[in-house]
Order: sequence, then C-alpha cells, then structure tokens
Amino acid sequence: MGNELSGPKRLLILDDEADVGATIANIARSAGFEALSVTSSDAFFAEINAWSPSHLALDLVMPHVDGIEVLRRLGGAACKACIIITSGVGSRVLDAAKRSALEHGLILSGVVSKPFTPSKFRALLAGPGVANDPRGGRAPRHEVVVDADMLHAAMEGRELTMAYQPKTDCRSGRVIGFEALARWIHPIHGVIPPDRFIVAAEHLGLMDPLTAHLFDIALDWFREIRTFSDYILSFNISRSSLGDIAFADRLARQCTHHEVPPERVILELTETSALADPTTSLDLLTRLRVKGFRLSIDDFGVGYSSIAQLVRLPFSELKIDKSFVFDAAASSESRTIIRTMVNLGHSLDLTVTAEGVEDGDALKILTDAGCDLAQGYFIARPMPATAVRPWLEAREGGA
Ligand code: C2E
Ligand code: CA
Ligand code: CA
Repeated sequence: MGNELSGPKRLLILDDEADVGATIANIARSAGFEALSVTSSDAFFAEINAWSPSHLALDLVMPHVDGIEVLRRLGGAACKACIIITSGVGSRVLDAAKRSALEHGLILSGVVSKPFTPSKFRALLAGPGVANDPRGGRAPRHEVVVDADMLHAAMEGRELTMAYQPKTDCRSGRVIGFEALARWIHPIHGVIPPDRFIVAAEHLGLMDPLTAHLFDIALDWFREIRTFSDYILSFNISRSSLGDIAFADRLARQCTHHEVPPERVILELTETSALADPTTSLDLLTRLRVKGFRLSIDDFGVGYSSIAQLVRLPFSELKIDKSFVFDAAASSESRTIIRTMVNLGHSLDLTVTAEGVEDGDALKILTDAGCDLAQGYFIARPMPATAVRPWLEAREGGA
C-alpha cells in the first residue's frame, strides 16, 4: 500500500460520477500530484495494489458501492495512504465515517463536503495525515510507526501511565468514579495518543499484554483511592480482547491480586466492537458479568447497532458519544438524539453517562434530559494519578 512519507505524490480517486472524479484529478494535478480516477471499488483496490497511491479520495455515498465497506477493507489491508473523504452527506454520517476510519487505524487527511472549492481540496492534499477527532481539533497525528519492540520497551520502561478523569452525578455533582485513560510518554517522540498506540497494539497482536499492563497500573492506583469513597473505576477494553473467553478470568485474577472487587469496575467497550461478533461477545460479556464486572457501551450513537442486538447484551451503562454532547447547545437535532438515548438507556435499565461535557450549557441540557452521569473538561480533564486526591480535596472543600 502507498505511504505518504515515501515515493511520488499520487492521488487515487473513487467516485461513481466520472466527471466529478476528473475534476478532482485536475485539482490534484494542479497541486503537483499524479492523479487517477476510477468509478468502481474493484478498480479502486486493483489500482491501490498496482499503482501505490500516497493519497486516496473517496466518495462515501455511491449507489452501487458502500463507502464504509471500502474503508473497512482499507483498514483490513493496513492501508497507509492519506485518505480524504469527499461527500455531500450530513455531518452525522461523516462523523461515523471518521470514527470508522480511525477505528480501522487509517490515516484521515480530512473530509470535504461536496460541492467543495479547489482550494479546500488542495489544502487537504498539502497537509500531512492528521488524526481527525470528531471535531477536527486535535494536534497532528504523530507519524511515528509504533512497532512491537517499542511497545515492549514502553511496558518494561514504565513509559506508559494512566490519567484519570472523574465522572459525576449530573444533579448532585457528587463524584461517582473515574475513567482510566492510557498515556504514553515516549522519550524521543513525546506523547503518543492512546487511540494511536491501541490500534497499533491490536494490529501487532499485543493488546492482551498491554491491557494487562494498563489494568495493573489502574488497579494499583484505584486500590488506594477507593478507600476515600465508594468510587467506580472505568477501564477501556479493546475490541481484540473480545474473542478470547479466558480474558474474563485474567481480569478477575488481576482484581483479586489488587484487592479490588470486580463489582467496583466498569469495563467500557465501544458499540462497534461489542457488536462486531455478537455471538462471541455475548459469551464473553456474560462471563465478565458473572465475575461481577459491570459493562458499559462506549461511544454510543455513532456505531451501527440495532436495538435488538443491544438488548441481548448484558450492559449496565450507556455512554452517549461526545459528538452529540459537543453539539447539544447548538443543535436541536443533537438534543433530540440525546433525549432519545437517555430514554432508551433508562428503558433498558442502564445508567446513562454523557462524555465530552465541555461547558455548563451542555451539563444543563443533559441534566434536563434526565442523563445520570457526566464526564468532560467542564468537570475535569483527565489528570495524573497524583493530582486526583488534591482535586477531590479542593472540590470537597469548595462544595
Ligand atoms: P474514549 O474511551 O471515548 O475516552 C474519552 C476520550 O475523550 C479521552 O480521550 C478523553 O481524554 C477525551 N475527553 C474527555 N472529556 C472530554 C471533553 O470534554 N472534551 C474533549 N474534546 N475530549 C474529552 P483520550 O484519552 O485521548 O483517549 C482516546 C481513546 O483511546 C479512548 O476514547 C479509548 O477508546 C482509547 N483508550 C484510552 N485508554 C485506553 C486503554 O487503557 N485501553 C483501551 N483499550 N483503549 C484506551
Ligand atoms: Ca471510554
Ligand atoms: Ca467514549
């Protein structure tokens, strides 16, 4: 597969409208690219192999081609080309597509909605591959290639730590617990973001030792902090752990070792990962529940789950994806979705948590909608272990 860091600048375009493809090709040529445009996914994948493009432009909405499926196949092929999504669809579909691209470890240069201007498109061609969080506001993605040796060294050299972000009750403001978020401070490359190295660990088959390592760090911290109050520890589980039925036993053993009852731990799984293989997931998730762990469905609302699948799986918490929360104040559509998700969660007897709460307006909207718990920068940013107690004390003192 092509790589933006080496070789010629080549753009391959998939658009079922040949004239649109030709226009994009011309824009790219004017920016110094070689360009080729195709109208079918078969031709697209054939050219990726034959021509090694450094950049891909992909229309998501084509009558005979499923753009999301194309992204999935690119992820499966570990494609390293910079991807530009070109579509005139609504922002929710685009958000879902961005997440899907990131979940598959793809490098997304950005999204342009049709019709777009040549300069907008050229800007994306010029930029490096960047991590596209739902708001596009994150720093450029490190182009560090994470390999197995680096990950092993990180685990052995204590380069990995956990940050902890509080979760509070929407109405009372009481602190209910903390989500542990992995942090990697690399001695040369600096901070490598978690979604980056988690994907790498998955591809390298190193997710199991990494999860065990991170869970140990989190439990070790939590054993002490939980004596402070009846807190809950939220811990993220990668999709690649869900195929292994022994996973539940290993997590339970770690809890025993750290003297933390599994009942105090919520394992967070994204909607897409939990439902990737509902049958295996059901067995493993049930096993985790039997051990006492609670389960949370993370990033809810951007995946593709059906309510029927959701009802079958033994979740205790639903986490509304932050993209809806970011938009809550500005978009009545997002507020409607939030209310619907809160009602759905409650009708299934789930605790509903919103993440990405960045201001008081969002918190008020969520509270009015009946949301139970909130998490976000407005309450606190993820903080190092040593900052948690002072933060709690300041909060209690100020309350
Ligand atoms: P996530 O589980 O959805 O975690 C929430 C992310 O939102 C975190 O990003 C957090 O720092 C960020 N966040 C929290 N509040 C706000 C807010 O108000 N505004 C904004 N803009 N962002 C907010 P982070 O720490 O970069 O983690 C990214 C993802 O990496 C996580 O998304 C999770 O999927 C994955 N991850 C992190 N730690 C682990 C881990 O230990 N294991 C696994 N498997 N995945 C992890
Ligand atoms: Ca999470
Ligand atoms: Ca989330």
